[in-house]
Amino acid sequence: MIARLTVDLGAIRRNAACLRRLVAPARVAAVVKANAYGHGLAPVALALAQDVDAFCVYRVDEAAALREAGITLPVLVLGPVEARELDLAHSSRAAIALWSEDAFRRDAARVARRRGAALAVHAKIDTGVTRLGLDRDRAPAALANYLADPDLALRGAFTHLAAAEELESAFTLTQLERFERALEPLGALLAERGVVRHAAASAAAMLFPKLRLDLVRPGIALYGIWPSEETRCAAPGVELEPALTWTTQLVAVRTVEAGRSVGYGCTYRTERPSRIGVLPVGYAEGLPRALSNAGQVLAGGRRVPIVGRVCMNMAFVDVTDVPEAAPGMRVTLIGRDGAERIDPNELAAAAGTIGYELVARLPAEIPRFYEGLDREAEDTALSAAARSSVPS
Ligand SMILES: *Cc1c(COP(=O)(O)O)cnc(C)c1O
Repeated sequence: MIARLTVDLGAIRRNAACLRRLVAPARVAAVVKANAYGHGLAPVALALAQDVDAFCVYRVDEAAALREAGITLPVLVLGPVEARELDLAHSSRAAIALWSEDAFRRDAARVARRRGAALAVHAKIDTGVTRLGLDRDRAPAALANYLADPDLALRGAFTHLAAAEELESAFTLTQLERFERALEPLGALLAERGVVRHAAASAAAMLFPKLRLDLVRPGIALYGIWPSEETRCAAPGVELEPALTWTTQLVAVRTVEAGRSVGYGCTYRTERPSRIGVLPVGYAEGLPRALSNAGQVLAGGRRVPIVGRVCMNMAFVDVTDVPEAAPGMRVTLIGRDGAERIDPNELAAAAGTIGYELVARLPAEIPRFYEGLDREAEDTALSAAARSSVPS
């Protein structure tokens, strides 16, 4: 295997347990969109099924894949749903996020009526991201309509925060206030109907107790990746274990003279007699091209710089200072080797992006290897991965 993604499902379970203890009595809906942030949808969901109360995905087909894998917990689709996907949402027993007051809401009700059971929905209210959701002044009337519609089962009301990762507490608290004010006119009725209120993703769940409400929606923290450097510093009691290891191997080591150019565009020139290692991983495999002449990886447990431009399927490292470097030597792009570790956020920062983007873009077709569970749980996770229609 020329590049290998290994996912420690035990670490993901321990991260979930840590978050769960932290936020109790609030419940936990694990966010597994984007192929579980690149970690593999079905195996991650199966590993977490005992540890969380629900799952959030972005698309209806991801909800269907969870059902196919055998997940029975509630599933909420966070993203926009097309009218033609409503049947699949309903047959997958997924709840959808709803912010429509007109045509789409009528479509949803019609599908539910035809299928003979109400469609579960969570009303989404925009309190400051200006992305999806009801305008907050329209929210009370819309929620009243949802509650009155026998074809809709209003299970939740939620909002999303704009700046909890940046520890922007003034704006975060303003959003909470706006959310609470939007729900206030219906207060008693919502409680009576058991409508669950939720707002916090990982950062707010860890750092803003007031935002935990009835349920939190952590994604990135489950995978052991901090939402931002600020959040890591602000949450000293929280231990997150990184779950992902991305390794490859040197496929060639070239011994070259000083002044030799390396790669497309001749953007790197050796300053001394050098040994240049070739990696069989490029931007098609998820290594950002922005890492050209930027960032470090581990060769034989030592930090080495990425040099030259990252190609479509290959990249270069300078292994002059690793005398034993030879074809076949293990190279760690993310993860630990001996005393050194490369965190997804470190590699991402060198590429001018964030850990979220780096892991979400790891191609689904690269095989994942799962560890950290007992044999039986591992077999379940693996056979689910094989069955799942979403590649993991
Ligand atoms: C992605 C997402 C989350 C999870 O965010 P993290 O920062 O990864 O914890 C929660 N809620 C919504 C609406 C999202 O889109």
